[in-house]
Amino acid sequence: MTKPTLATVWLDGCSGCHMSFLDMDERLLDIAARADLVYSPLVDVKTFPESVDITLVEGAVSSEDDLAKIQLVRAHTRVLVSLGDCAVTANVPGLRNPYGPGPLLQRAYIDNVDLNAQLPSQVVPKLLAKSRPVHTVVAVDVFLPGCPPTADQIFWVLDELLSGRSPDTATMSRFGT
Ligand code: SF4
Repeated sequence: MTKPTLATVWLDGCSGCHMSFLDMDERLLDIAARADLVYSPLVDVKTFPESVDITLVEGAVSSEDDLAKIQLVRAHTRVLVSLGDCAVTANVPGLRNPYGPGPLLQRAYIDNVDLNAQLPSQVVPKLLAKSRPVHTVVAVDVFLPGCPPTADQIFWVLDELLSGRSPDTATMSRFGT
């Protein structure tokens, strides 16, 4: 019997949620026995697969690249999990929302730079007007807040999903039980 597939995606976040994922330690072996990790910053796969059963998304939707990526991911994912406060509320990336991208870029690339101050016109993806929680852009099935969520909570959610249940994170304790 084929195992369910699992993916993790990194949008505008600090990678702390992925570090918490890794903090599951030996329980990663349990997850690996029950699901195939088919796409993630943790594995060398460049293209999001055609069909994924569970995708954990870290980070807010802040740029045009983030927007295109989460729309692609949503279209090819059965259960989408917003992983962490940046995905759930925009959190830290959302701090720039009252100012808009213009003053932010000015501060980062002009005001605070001593040499070759210039706004990026290539490589750096164009920022959206606001940094947005994932569910305001695409449908989200499970919300897992926390900055970051604990490894226990991430394991609990994955265990629930891989057991065929719908995790109710509103009833979840800090330790995910
Ligand atoms: Fe980092 Fe916290 Fe955002 Fe996760 S929720 S990406 S740990 S700032």
